[in-house]
Amino acid sequence: SIMPATLSAISNGARHGILFKGGVHLENLSHLKAIAFDKTGTLTKGKPEVTDVIVADGLSESEILLKAASIESHSTHPLANAIVKFAKEKLDGSLINPESIEDVSGWGVKAFIDRDEWKIGKAAFVGLEAAGQFGEGAAAKMASQGKTIVFVQKNGEIAAIIALQDVVREETRTAIDRLKNEGIYTLMLTGDSRNTGMAIAKTSHVDDYIAECLPENKVEHLKKLQETYGTVAMVGDGINDAPALATANVGIAMGEGTDVALETADVVLMKNDLPRIAEAIKLSKKMNRIIK
Ligand code: ADP
Ligand code: MG
Repeated sequence: SIMPATLSAISNGARHGILFKGGVHLENLSHLKAIAFDKTGTLTKGKPEVTDVIVADGLSESEILLKAASIESHSTHPLANAIVKFAKEKLDGSLINPESIEDVSGWGVKAFIDRDEWKIGKAAFVGLEAAGQFGEGAAAKMASQGKTIVFVQKNGEIAAIIALQDVVREETRTAIDRLKNEGIYTLMLTGDSRNTGMAIAKTSHVDDYIAECLPENKVEHLKKLQETYGTVAMVGDGINDAPALATANVGIAMGEGTDVALETADVVLMKNDLPRIAEAIKLSKKMNRIIK
């Protein structure tokens, strides 16, 4: 049976846009010591836009954009959607059909077009060290502005870099500041590069960040967080976040997140409203005082 105080707290939450899938999650929230956040779509709006395209000498920008968009049109990644949208606005011809496509989650996409091998994704995916061998200065500078850098490789050579900007949600800072005031440690986990991660972490006010995380790394970092802090939460929106949402003591999904995230989570922020997390914690502490 469910305690009247729990029931009233759950319905109070629902009225304020927080859906608890059970009383135990409210109880766990009252013991929370640390929260990990995904970056894209959680701390940021998750709607990146292409800001810069830098093409290697001797190559045509329209060819690169056409091939890159043709390949990315087969991926559902937010970066892929942004690249396709940008190319469609710039080009008049229609996209072409690559011969074989491999969408490597957390890394990028690989495909063949007219016997040319194309790879589009993070630096490590195209065999570059973190610093990068092409447009090093430009890529590093754009990343330190919080832009995500996507590398386009043709037959083993870097053909272009595409920079994309995603904006931090207006309410992110307030949400993080309120949690820190409650004595909660905040950490950002991202698959993005170190420079980009650092810039977004700074704007978001999180205590710390870990960049270049693969989905399985997010789970490892959560387990470490649990060892240090005990009860921890994870906030995320993507398919990639589902394993970490399941590992956390309290998995919190953004309401506009993917179905898998919503199903896996214990708590759903119905309007993506991050400051509600601190309110929910206060509510859970109040409820605990009433019960005990
Ligand atoms: P995040 O954790 O920030 O949501 P992901 O784990 O989905 O990011 O991806 C990590 C990185 O891999 C991206 O920042 C990007 O550089 C690269 N990447 C992944 N998928 C794609 C894609 N379809 N096109 C281009 N780059 C990609
Ligand atoms: Mg995300």
